[in-house]
Amino acid sequence: MSNIKGKTIVITGASSGIGEATAILLASRGAKVVVGARRTERLEKLAAEIAASGGTARFRAVDVTSRQDVQALVDFAKAEFGQVDVLINNAGVMPLSMMADLKTDEWDRMIDVNIRGVLHGIAAVLPDMRARRNGQIINVASIGAHVVVPTGAVYCATKYAVWAISEGLRQENPDVRVTIISPGVVATELGHDITDEATKGALTEWRKTSLTPDAIARAVAYAVEQPDDVDVNEVIVRPTASAF
Ligand code: NDP
Repeated sequence: MSNIKGKTIVITGASSGIGEATAILLASRGAKVVVGARRTERLEKLAAEIAASGGTARFRAVDVTSRQDVQALVDFAKAEFGQVDVLINNAGVMPLSMMADLKTDEWDRMIDVNIRGVLHGIAAVLPDMRARRNGQIINVASIGAHVVVPTGAVYCATKYAVWAISEGLRQENPDVRVTIISPGVVATELGHDITDEATKGALTEWRKTSLTPDAIARAVAYAVEQPDDVDVNEVIVRPTASAF
C-alpha cells in the first residue's frame, strides 16, 4: 500500500531541478502537490503538465526568505486540500566563492534562502502537525552538510545548519517524521548565479559526473512512502563514480 497516494505535499523550489522532478514523481504516485517558487510561469507549466498526466497540482508564488510568503503558501495548500501532510523544504541557492573575495551579499543570500527559508517552512507547518500528531517535514540538505571544500564554506555552513535543525526537530517531535535528503552532484540549474569564473569552471568539471534530478526524487518518494511509524532520518545519494 502506497503511503503517498492522497497526501497533500508542499514543495518549495519546484520551478526547476530536484523540486520539479520530485513534484512530477510524487504527483504520478497520487499525491496532491502544491508547488512554490518565484518563477510562476514555470510553476504554471509544471502544474499543467501534471494535470495533463492525470495528477493533481496547484502552484503559488513564494519567496522563502519571507516568513509571510511561506505561511501563505501553506495556508493556500490548506485552503485547497484541507491539510498539509508533507512539507519539502527544497529551495536553495549556491553562489560558491572563496571567502577572501568577501562576497558578503551572496553569503547573506545563502543564509536567507537555505537556512531562514527552511525555518520559515517549519514554522508554517509544525503547529498543525503537532496538533494532529502526524506529518512529515523533509529538508533538502546536501553532501555539503557532511564535507567542506574551498569555495563552499558558507554554502556548506548553511547545509550543516539544515542538518542540525532537522536533527533537533526530529528529537523534539516524536509524532512528526523528519527526513534529511542529502544529494551529491546533480545536474540542475544550481550554481547558475556563481559570479566567479574559476569557480564556475570547477562546477562544470564536478558536473561531468552527476545524477539527474529524478534520482533524488526517488529518494524523497522512498522516505514518504514508509509507514507512519518509520522515519527515514537521512538519505545521502551520490553518483556512484563521484566523491561528491
Ligand atoms: P535549482 O537551481 O534547479 O533549483 C533551486 C530552486 O530553488 C528553484 O526552483 C528556485 O526557484 C528556488 N529558489 C531559489 N531561491 C528561492 C527563493 N528565495 N524563494 C523560493 N524559491 C527559491 O537547483 P536544485 O534543484 O539542484 O536545488 C534544490 C535543492 O537541492 C537546493 O536546496 C540545493 O542546495 C540542493 N542540492 C543540490 C545539489 C545539486 O548538485 N544540484 C547537491 C546538493 C544539494 P525560483 O528561482 O523560481 O524562485
